Amino acid sequence: MDKAKLRKQIRALKAKYNASAWTDSMLIMQTLEADEHFRSSKTVLLYHSLSDEVNTHTFIDKWCGQKLVLLPKVVDDDLELRIYHNASELQVGAFGISEPTGKLFTDYAQIDFVAVPGIAFDTKGNRLGRGKGYYDRLLPKLTNAYKAGICFPYQLVETVPTEPTDIKMDVVITLTT
Ligand code: ADP
Ligand code: MG
Repeated sequence: MDKAKLRKQIRALKAKYNASAWTDSMLIMQTLEADEHFRSSKTVLLYHSLSDEVNTHTFIDKWCGQKLVLLPKVVDDDLELRIYHNASELQVGAFGISEPTGKLFTDYAQIDFVAVPGIAFDTKGNRLGRGKGYYDRLLPKLTNAYKAGICFPYQLVETVPTEPTDIKMDVVITLTT
């Protein structure tokens, strides 16, 4: 299966799982919270979720007082990272994503942990994004970060098609039943 076809297939499934999306999101983020790599991390890159992604909003606000929380901002073809302290520092940017307006952060090697959204993942850690390659370009700079893909169970598939530029996750976190 090619990437475009898999993106379409997963998107078509979304409506079926809307009713449980919020509850499932809370449970998935609890699993993330229990991960030893997250627990020991000091500087974390999270993502401010869109409506089709595992919801991270309450999670971000819970942890921004305890760890240094960074969020991405789309700048042309790249993701810039900015420090997040509170919701007053969010502004809707490209693709309707709420983006940070805080201080620019460029010490990529300091980042211990990154939560990565995706359209689909497989159990080997391969990731399918929205098709613009933003995380494939960003993640190689995060030389010390443990990479956790975050998704709903219907987004975890047997095999995600890959290309050499695709960056693999260290773990995929989803709902554990
Ligand atoms: P996504 O990861 O968002 O699903 P793709 O993997 O399909 O998107 O990649 C989208 C585009 O970005 C592709 O044309 C790919 O060649 C390009 N790309 C990915 N990583 C890099 C990189 N490190 N440098 C330059 N282009 C890249
Ligand atoms: Mg990719």
